[in-house]
Amino acid sequence: MTSNGSQATAALAGTDRQERVDGAQPAIELLGLRRSFGPVNVLRGVDLEVLPGERVLLVGPNGSGKTTLIKTLATLLRPTAGQARVAGFDVVREADMVRRCVGLVGHQTFLYGELTAAENLAFYARMYGVEDGSRCRETLWLVGLSERADKQTRTLSRGMQQRLALARVALHRPPVLLLDEPDAGLDQQGITVLDTLLRGSAESGCAVLFTSHNLQRGLEMASRVAVLSKGRIVFQAPRERLNAGDFEEAYRRHIGATS
Ligand code: ADP
Repeated sequence: MTSNGSQATAALAGTDRQERVDGAQPAIELLGLRRSFGPVNVLRGVDLEVLPGERVLLVGPNGSGKTTLIKTLATLLRPTAGQARVAGFDVVREADMVRRCVGLVGHQTFLYGELTAAENLAFYARMYGVEDGSRCRETLWLVGLSERADKQTRTLSRGMQQRLALARVALHRPPVLLLDEPDAGLDQQGITVLDTLLRGSAESGCAVLFTSHNLQRGLEMASRVAVLSKGRIVFQAPRERLNAGDFEEAYRRHIGATS
């Protein structure tokens, strides 16, 4: 069975949000964030806010620091200077709390190849303390993998593994989703699954920050866009103010203006 948009949206909606991300307080808050690798200054003072319910697309040229930014928010890298708060928690001083509030899909899937798709989700359900026994089956269905539940994960195609990685983060309904190129390897049906996941999560109050190399596709899935270039946010706009042509033009202008 394939997933159905409105049913999936309803099923992903949850009320178990952290109290601190309810209301107008930003779920992600960056102030003058800097990150260097040795002498190389990758992030040079990033200011950015993402509110609960927003889907913010972060784009920028290769090497502009998107992955570094996502990893810093996920506490996999420490900032060199500046502030970063996630769900109200400081990424350095309250890293444990940040990790509990974040669902991360990065370039690695964090799946166990020898386990089946269902076993991977069951493992993560235990780790996240998800007690609803039907949640794993429901989430596998949402990402269109019900029929592959008993297949060893390493035998699944790249796109299917990416869907399973999305299922892994959808499982526990975190208040913040950090998705680094979540559309990588997905076919059209997988893109629909991703779009449904983003919308459903945001509608239930989750803040989503995601990257994509496909400007047009990313724009379609976003409620706001932000362009990172040379380590700073150089352009931001709400989705409704941009059509695909405007966005490409603005992107090229701002990348060009800072290169
Ligand atoms: P993007 O995701 O926008 O392509 P990245 O955040 O992956 O950019 O990389 C930004 C810059 O930081 C690149 O020049 C990259 O080589 C450098 N970089 C990233 N991680 C490391 C690391 N662990 N050590 C040294 N340099 C790094």
